[in-house]
Amino acid sequence: MQADQDNKGQAVAIVGAGPAGLMAAEALARAGHAVDVYDAMPSAGRKFLLAGRGGLNLTHSEALDRFLTRLRPQQPALEAMVRGFGPEALRAWAADLGVETFVGTSGRVFPTDMKAAPLLRAWMHRLRASGVRFHMRHRWQGWDAEGRPRFDTPAGPQAIDCNALVLALGGASWARLGSDGAWVPVLREAGAEVRALQPSNCGFDVAGGWTPFFTERHAGHPFKSVAIEFGGVRRKGEFVATASGVEGSLVYAFSADLRDAITRDGQATFTLDLLPDKPADAVLREVSHPRGSRSLSSHLKGRLGIDGIKAAVLHERLTREAMHDPAQLAAAIKALPLTLCAPRPIDEAISSAGGVAWAALDERLMLRARPGVFCAGEMLDWEAPTGGYLLTATMATGRAAGEGAARWLELSRP
Ligand SMILES: Cc1cc2nc3c(=O)[nH]c(=O)nc-3n(C[C@H](O)[C@H](O)[C@H](O)COP(=O)(O)OP(=O)(O)OC[C@H]3O[C@@H](n4cnc5c(N)ncnc54)[C@H](O)[C@@H]3O)c2cc1C
Repeated sequence: MQADQDNKGQAVAIVGAGPAGLMAAEALARAGHAVDVYDAMPSAGRKFLLAGRGGLNLTHSEALDRFLTRLRPQQPALEAMVRGFGPEALRAWAADLGVETFVGTSGRVFPTDMKAAPLLRAWMHRLRASGVRFHMRHRWQGWDAEGRPRFDTPAGPQAIDCNALVLALGGASWARLGSDGAWVPVLREAGAEVRALQPSNCGFDVAGGWTPFFTERHAGHPFKSVAIEFGGVRRKGEFVATASGVEGSLVYAFSADLRDAITRDGQATFTLDLLPDKPADAVLREVSHPRGSRSLSSHLKGRLGIDGIKAAVLHERLTREAMHDPAQLAAAIKALPLTLCAPRPIDEAISSAGGVAWAALDERLMLRARPGVFCAGEMLDWEAPTGGYLLTATMATGRAAGEGAARWLELSRP
């Protein structure tokens, strides 16, 4: 991996034009290096743009100490990076690019127009203006015999010279947006420990599946204002029934624990509270109220507001006898067990767990097995729930890798 060096700056290649790679590019360009960014896709930041489709949740406004508890596994190096470039710094950075942010009711932070595209546009413009060059449709394939990064390009295979390489290749979800995890065997072969990539913030299949009747009528419908309890933790929110199970924000919040429990035990059971704001005794009182000639459905709807998918899931999971037994029915409304048997495939997940092990990296995010090669973003071994934590930690590690590479170049300068 050699390139011409001069006193001003050295040649750095960054692979991956997602938020991590772009942050690394920014840090290295600021340090005066000649930065070339390569990406397999025809344009930069495709997943970042997708994230903006439902409202770009850039970061979270909660206290930093609390924020750091969301990152898993607890990793001092990652925490230090997020402390170094955390939620406040990220908001200031966006403001500097002309994108103001606001704190939503949940504490989540969004650009005022909710979109990712204006932010990415301004960012790319500033990077180009600072001399960063972009090479799209360049798929990194590892190294050639001389240790040069090699790419498949529209013009055929190509190896490049550089003094340092930053890999910011993402995880393995939504492969059609570019991050497909194909780098895992390449880095393992290069001697780096990489933990298997796993789905994070993902949906799950319910054991035994839903009945065709339920799927036909309710797949895609939300369970609104419900609570899930799992592993002693209870949260309110909403999620969606899918053709084979469940997905959505409330399920994602539990997804790491559910996934780990399924890996360990083969399945995981959470309880669903269909009326989290109504105490159990009040539910029992309403269910037990004489219903005269009314059907059970109109009774549940009239006295408790339970209808649609909430009524359907009770019918789905309870026997006829239990449905007609007030004590059993009321207990199920407050704590309906749902057993999950498998996470959905990683390609459908919001993010990936696993990745380059922290032990494989030094404090600058340089691969111990491959001096001069740095890693950043979702390809590192951490995960976090949705809520802006993913982008914040991605950008913090991108910046840390860029600054780490700049420090290393400084020290290794002849
Ligand atoms: C639907 C959805 C919504 C999301 N919403 C949010 C949100 O609101 N807030 C939040 O914090 N997070 C959100 N995320 C997560 C967030 O987008 C990711 O965590 C983040 O994009 C990771 O950044 P990264 O730079 O590490 O990887 P990526 O953004 O995945 O970028 C990696 C880049 O590397 C390139 N690449 C991969 N392999 C190669 C190769 N061999 N050669 C060349 N290039 C390669 C890819 O083409 C890609 O451009 C969302 C994710 C999804 C899927």
